Amino acid sequence: MKAPKLGKYCSIAAFAGAACLLIAVFIFLPIAYFTDVEAIDTIAIMLLFSGVALCFLHYGLALAVRCPSCRKLLMFSWSKHIHKNSPCENGTEVAFHWFKGQVVCIHCGQTIETIGT
Ligand SMILES: [Zn+2]
Repeated sequence: MKAPKLGKYCSIAAFAGAACLLIAVFIFLPIAYFTDVEAIDTIAIMLLFSGVALCFLHYGLALAVRCPSCRKLLMFSWSKHIHKNSPCENGTEVAFHWFKGQVVCIHCGQTIETIGT
C-alpha cells in the first residue's frame, strides 16, 4: 500500500518545524539570554516564528494526507483512540516515522509504504 506523495512534504514540514523550535529554544534563546547581541535575538525570534509556521503547514498538509486503506487522515486524529497496531501515540508522531520506510495507520492499523513517495 503506497502512501500519498503529499505525506512526504507534510513530514518534512513537521521535521523542519520541530528542528527550528528546538534550535531556537535550546541554542539561540540561551545565547540571547546571556549575551547582548541583537542579531542573536533576531535569529531566535525568526526561528521561533518559522518553527510555528512550519507546524501550521504540517497540520494544514496533514488534513490532505489520507490513508489509502480507510481514507481517514493519516497524521491527524480527533480522538485519543489509536489502533493497536500503530506504535504512535498520535498523528504527529506518524510524521516522524515517515522516513523509516513505512508507517502504520492510526485508524485502521494498515501498514503503508512511504519509500518512493
Ligand atoms: Zn487507515
